[in-house]
Amino acid sequence: MFTIYPARRILTMNPARPEATHVAVRDGHVLGAGTLDELAVWGPHRIDRTFADLVLMPGLVEGHSHISEGVFWQSVYCGFFDRMDPDGKVWPGLASIDAVIARLAAADAALADPAAPLAGWSLDPIYFGDRRVGRAELDRVSATRPIGIMHASGHILSVNTRTLELAGLLRPGLNHPGVPLGADGLPTGELKGPEAMMPAGRHCGFDREKQAGDERGLRQFARLCVRRGVTTATDLANLLPDDAVDMMLRVTGEPGFPARIVSFRRNYGLSMPDLIERARALRDRSSDRLRLGGVKLFADGSIQGFSARLRWPGYLGGQPNGLWYITPEHLTEAYERALAAGILVHTHTNGDEATDLALDCLEAALRRQPGPDHRFTLQHCQLGDPAQFRRMKALGLCVNLFPNHHFYWGDQHYRTTLGPERAERMNACASALAAGVPMAMHSDAPVTPLGPLFTAWCAVNRRTASGRVLGAAERIGVADALRAITLGAAYTLKLDGEIGQIACGKRADFAVLEDDPTAITPERLKDVRIWGTVQDGRPFPAAAI
Ligand SMILES: [Zn+2]
Repeated sequence: MFTIYPARRILTMNPARPEATHVAVRDGHVLGAGTLDELAVWGPHRIDRTFADLVLMPGLVEGHSHISEGVFWQSVYCGFFDRMDPDGKVWPGLASIDAVIARLAAADAALADPAAPLAGWSLDPIYFGDRRVGRAELDRVSATRPIGIMHASGHILSVNTRTLELAGLLRPGLNHPGVPLGADGLPTGELKGPEAMMPAGRHCGFDREKQAGDERGLRQFARLCVRRGVTTATDLANLLPDDAVDMMLRVTGEPGFPARIVSFRRNYGLSMPDLIERARALRDRSSDRLRLGGVKLFADGSIQGFSARLRWPGYLGGQPNGLWYITPEHLTEAYERALAAGILVHTHTNGDEATDLALDCLEAALRRQPGPDHRFTLQHCQLGDPAQFRRMKALGLCVNLFPNHHFYWGDQHYRTTLGPERAERMNACASALAAGVPMAMHSDAPVTPLGPLFTAWCAVNRRTASGRVLGAAERIGVADALRAITLGAAYTLKLDGEIGQIACGKRADFAVLEDDPTAITPERLKDVRIWGTVQDGRPFPAAAI
């Protein structure tokens, strides 16, 4: 006995049979997609009309996100744009630093314990004339409790004086590129890059190990996935300590857990040999709904935080170049060892100089250690140019671009960080496809909200928040965008044999839509209403999640 679902339309993303009226599901897999008569030949079945008026497409695959999108909703949202939480409630954006301070003060007043940490997230001073937010501002909220506000980029943490004290950082004589000092010789309270952020984060609600083991956050993240039509989501930079892995295996293994999570071990606190060894051990613990064994490396920071590494001529305003997060020697060593062990590596590069570094290091590593079908992927690669895409193709690299930047920071890149010409070539989807580089696209949630159809809208329209079209020549068509958020992302995770299409033998993972994304104008792609998902053959309506 199996189930046949009729639907208003089924977009299979299978080029051999792009459309169907019915899909048959058995044991969590697709038995076939076609007409009722074609599917009935498989034998006794029942008809389920739940989706009869809805549109099915392959479950969306978010190739670069973080479970912390679910974790952060337990702290104070400080973002500039309105944003939906896992319950479906929309939080209004904050248009000034004073509004941020006021929301934090309200949260401070609601906390009984004066020493309890107060955490906020998604702050972005670039919308406030790039006025810096440090301890002077945050001390206005409280001088007794530690406060930490994660910036939207995830690459800067603003803290108050109490946090600096607890972290042992409130002293003169510090000399670290990630710890800017004020006129008094003491840290301003802005901490840049993991080396500076992690020791302080521990005291103000951003303990990475604790976040990794945050069970409620994982559940909240999965609820957001259902609301966005996502059936497989990456958790791309987790420390994955053993107790967190135990929790994640238990929770994702529950019969009602609605998403497949692909969690990569981030490079932090281990030597390169130990990192690759750890990835190998994690890979052996993978389950169907928790895939482990990938490694995430970071080459630089973020463009809007001025911590990405840019080639000549650097930042538009003459700001100092960004931060290196890894040395060339370590990067090459990590690649070489991962190639030898068959470990999948995704590398964060934002600036074009960081992309050059990753290309040089991989080329050197591949000379010594060839790796067939390695599918190493550059994450963000926002300033990738055609010459870099050609090198990526030659080296067997994939790319996962970040079109959400056009909307959220496009105006800032045009005016403030990069200037018009380079802003227009950011996230050059058309160039990447023309060069034949396997391509995905992403939200980097919690950096921007999870939502692959919104990401697809960004790639198709390239509109900034003010409405400017940024780099019209790099726009791509709806079909290419839908492919990137399904099969494209699956390919970068080596999961394209299992997911990304509705076809015989694939997982029964569907995004269930109320509107047909191929039948509306491309400007409306972000407005497609989402009913929910089917994951491994189990329906999850968003209204009941
Ligand atoms: Zn990320």
